[in-house]
Amino acid sequence: TTRVLTGITTSGTPHLGNYVGAIRPAVAASHRDGVESFYFLADYHALIKVQDPARVQRSTLEIAATWLACGLEPDKVWFYRQSDIPEIPELTWLLTCVAGKGILNRAHAYKAAVDKNRADGEDDDAGISAGLFMYPVLMAADILIFNANQVPVGRDQIQHIEMARDFGQRFNHLFGKDYFSLPEVVIEEHVATLPGLDGRKMSKSYDNTIPLFAPRNELKKLIAAIVTDSRAPGEAKDADASHVFQLYRAFASAEETAAMRQAFAEGIGWGDAKQQLFERIDAEVAPLREKYEALIARPAEIEGILRDGAQRLRAKYAVPFIAELRNAVGLRDLG
Ligand code: ATP
Repeated sequence: TTRVLTGITTSGTPHLGNYVGAIRPAVAASHRDGVESFYFLADYHALIKVQDPARVQRSTLEIAATWLACGLEPDKVWFYRQSDIPEIPELTWLLTCVAGKGILNRAHAYKAAVDKNRADGEDDDAGISAGLFMYPVLMAADILIFNANQVPVGRDQIQHIEMARDFGQRFNHLFGKDYFSLPEVVIEEHVATLPGLDGRKMSKSYDNTIPLFAPRNELKKLIAAIVTDSRAPGEAKDADASHVFQLYRAFASAEETAAMRQAFAEGIGWGDAKQQLFERIDAEVAPLREKYEALIARPAEIEGILRDGAQRLRAKYAVPFIAELRNAVGLRDLG
């Protein structure tokens, strides 16, 4: 079997980008034969960006309810919260001790933060936590603790998977056995990266999102707020340059998309295009929203599902594997 792993950071309310880019394809993949799926709420990762405990807790509940509303079946897949698996930070340390610092220096997220400091005339590392710097090692531990073979990611994440391979390989080499199988990079070519309200990538930490389960009237308002150019109805519009079109395409069939492209060329007004976008998204999301609202009202049940998932997963994989790894590096057997 192939082990497929997907995580979402608990840094805010899940949005259309998380749904199109991660949740929808991952739930579809979980129904395929020969696949063992791992879905986790990346709350240790959230701490890199968020120092607001209420936000992390709320986000954990929202993201868990979202996965469940979108059709994840917790008795058929592994569904857990990262921080319920203490073997993950333990493995993070074991990997930290074999990870090349030079490799981490080249990680995109860290480099981008340094570049920004330079552009602002600050010291290179001003305001950058060691957590941001070490993030690829934590991500490697997320993958390697369960020997996941496939981690579907966007292009921006390729480098992190390569680092996980590098750290795993180095560990195997140093300790003389293939403890870790090395994950493959699976690029989701057909999965779109959705733009946010400000035109940057839609992202929880940019506060530029359209929440997946925004109530209908709010969804409508947010869609109305998407930035467009000033072309009037009747003037031809460039579909590929339009955020409205990019969002529409992510929710529409090939035929609907072709028809919308034609409408852009023929000068559809922005108001009309946005109305059609709203209707398309709402048609797909409305039944899920109803399930979500029912689930989010029962937090104790969600908590129970998460705890149960983590407990079973630890017993089956994480606890025996970390014991083997502790032994490999010369640490005491915890029994
Ligand atoms: P953060 O700002 O905390 O990084 P995020 O919303 O950008 O949050 P993550 O939680 O890091 O996203 O990512 C979860 C999954 O959602 C990943 O698989 C990622 O590729 C996908 N994803 C995130 N944003 C988008 C987007 N705008 N379009 C498509 N997929 C996205």
